[in-house]
Amino acid sequence: MLSDIFLNRAAQVLGSNIAVMAGFYVLIAGAAWLSGYVLFRRSWKHRKIIADYPERADMAREIFYSGISVIIFALFVVLTWWMKLHGWTRIYVTMNEYGWWWFFLSLPVTIVVHDAYFYWTHRLLHSRALYRWFHHTHHRSHNPSPWTSYAFAPLEAAVQAGIMPLVAVLYPVHPVPWALFMMFQFGINVTIHSGYEFMPRRFADSWISRVLSTPTSHIVHHQYSRGNYGFFFSFWDRLMGTHHPRYEERLRSVTSGS
Ligand SMILES: [Zn+2]
Ligand SMILES: [Zn+2]
Repeated sequence: MLSDIFLNRAAQVLGSNIAVMAGFYVLIAGAAWLSGYVLFRRSWKHRKIIADYPERADMAREIFYSGISVIIFALFVVLTWWMKLHGWTRIYVTMNEYGWWWFFLSLPVTIVVHDAYFYWTHRLLHSRALYRWFHHTHHRSHNPSPWTSYAFAPLEAAVQAGIMPLVAVLYPVHPVPWALFMMFQFGINVTIHSGYEFMPRRFADSWISRVLSTPTSHIVHHQYSRGNYGFFFSFWDRLMGTHHPRYEERLRSVTSGS
């Protein structure tokens, strides 16, 4: 029966995506944790944004919720695949169908689109009506670790994964730049939750700091639960006046020992 074939294929897409995403999470977040919390814990100490280290119980909770997030993200891949089967998306598979220039340009475009999506949904999730059900779980980590990067309540994981079907209907997207984007944003997500600042001392005074976000920016957000809602970039926060007033001071302080 057709429905059996469809269900089998959907189960395959779900299963393979859970395996790939869980593997990637363990590999990247695990490497960051091993580096910053075991191997280089002492030599990187002057770069730790919050001097203390998170408790084991916090990291166990973060890993548990990240596991649920992986399943929800994989379900959204199945949803996007199902939408493509019905011809509702603009996903294309012939590399030069929209020109090579678009094949490459779609990656930075997706980064900018995702950043806007993240900023505005993040602000919405901080509203009184939604915070408790959607965003509180992520903010239980006042001193984040690499494992915090996907520690979302299931409802928030659905919002975060919503970027996949949204981009797929908005503009033509090829699976290769899309996969590269997903890996890139995953790496950035782990970096901004790593607990360490990696920017050089002169970064705080350069014009780039007015455009790019940093781990310090997101850690300050976790500490105070307000301000610095951006992901890759800081310009939405600067434009909308949601830039945290203590951010610059913290950035200068943590980079001053370099
Ligand atoms: Zn966070
Ligand atoms: Zn938040």
